[in-house]
Amino acid sequence: MNQRYTSPACPPSGLPNRLKSLSLLLLILLTALPALAQQVLPRISVATRSDGLGYVLRFHFTSAPDSFKVFQPTADLIQLAVYADDVVTDDTQLPPPGETIQAVVANTIPDGAGFNIQLAAGSYYLARAYPDANQRHLLVALTRASQRDLAILTEGMQPINWNPPDADSLAAADETGTLPDAATLDSLAAVLPETETPSRDFNGRRLRTVIIDAGHGGHDPGAIGASGTREKDIVLTVAKKLGDYINEYLPDVNVVYTRTDDTFIDLHERGRIANRAQGDLFISLHTNAVTQRGAYGAEFFFLGVARTESALEVMKRENSVIALEDPATRTRELTEEELILYELTNVGYMTTSQRLAEKMDHQFTQRAGRRSRGVKQAGFIVLFQASMPAVLVELGFISNPSEERYMRTERGQAILASAMFRAIRDYKVALEENGNY
Ligand SMILES: [Zn+2]
Repeated sequence: MNQRYTSPACPPSGLPNRLKSLSLLLLILLTALPALAQQVLPRISVATRSDGLGYVLRFHFTSAPDSFKVFQPTADLIQLAVYADDVVTDDTQLPPPGETIQAVVANTIPDGAGFNIQLAAGSYYLARAYPDANQRHLLVALTRASQRDLAILTEGMQPINWNPPDADSLAAADETGTLPDAATLDSLAAVLPETETPSRDFNGRRLRTVIIDAGHGGHDPGAIGASGTREKDIVLTVAKKLGDYINEYLPDVNVVYTRTDDTFIDLHERGRIANRAQGDLFISLHTNAVTQRGAYGAEFFFLGVARTESALEVMKRENSVIALEDPATRTRELTEEELILYELTNVGYMTTSQRLAEKMDHQFTQRAGRRSRGVKQAGFIVLFQASMPAVLVELGFISNPSEERYMRTERGQAILASAMFRAIRDYKVALEENGNY
């Protein structure tokens, strides 16, 4: 109901000091440590799977990489990011061109190495990366899939540019006397202010862009409370407060909203907005509603097969907006197969999404004094579309008169937004300082 857009009333405390002490700690650690070990990759080999379902690529590392992530932006391109302090790929023996796996190319990136695995046009495989039992080698399994599976997984995705043009291109252009074209100038404008890392396109282990998705909007009011409060209004106000906190206290993080006014945006478009903005994190805000007025508390969801009946109910309600969409673009519910497929190919995102959801749960209960009904999994279409770690927050029950009142107050909204802000801040610190995500 309250659609005013105001600055945060009670700023979360202690951030600058905490960051300062963390940087100091990092500096001490860096100066105290001996030279970091190199991770050499002598060879990448390809084998046909014994079950006949596809192939396995083996990355013969000499020691286990810190972490890795597999991306599949198009049906015929698989991209693998391997994070480690110093990955040496200069003398890597690459597999010879095959009928399906046509080429493997290694690139150096600020946080390790990025690999492009080029498949033949018209081949449809799902890629999954996992460590070998000996924990040093990394395996990428390709499992035969349908064209439709790939269409679902790759919709709205863009290949990662491991080596975006940087300031050197400008210097080179100067020397040869030719002017860089408009596209090069655009990329330069985007990378020049960032001195930390030359990579603009690949975010690696950094939190650069957070997508805040206020649920519902326009002709879709979402759930409606006993005294007429509309979900779409509450979540938009809280979304803007959360964005304000991030802009003010994490100035290096870019905030992108899927909507900033009372507009209807379909569930698939929300994910596409997130993918186009190359988001590193997707937060979707909602309020809960059930017929029993006594139910109250927040819930934190990450994507997966719903494991409880109540998680399934929340999922059905939030997905039901599909019925309000334009019949021309209307799509169906996610099938269990699609969700299992997502779980198989997004193990990395699911773990990070779960960790953020747990941090939010902690902030709500320990700091904001709210009741939490826990961290859960369910098949939300809006999360499925976003190719990044994603959490859907049910802030509270609009069907509970006291929680409805709370969520309508400026104070309640500020407390909810600041609790989520602190969880995102802690997530960012863990991701960037510890690099353990
Ligand atoms: Zn909702």
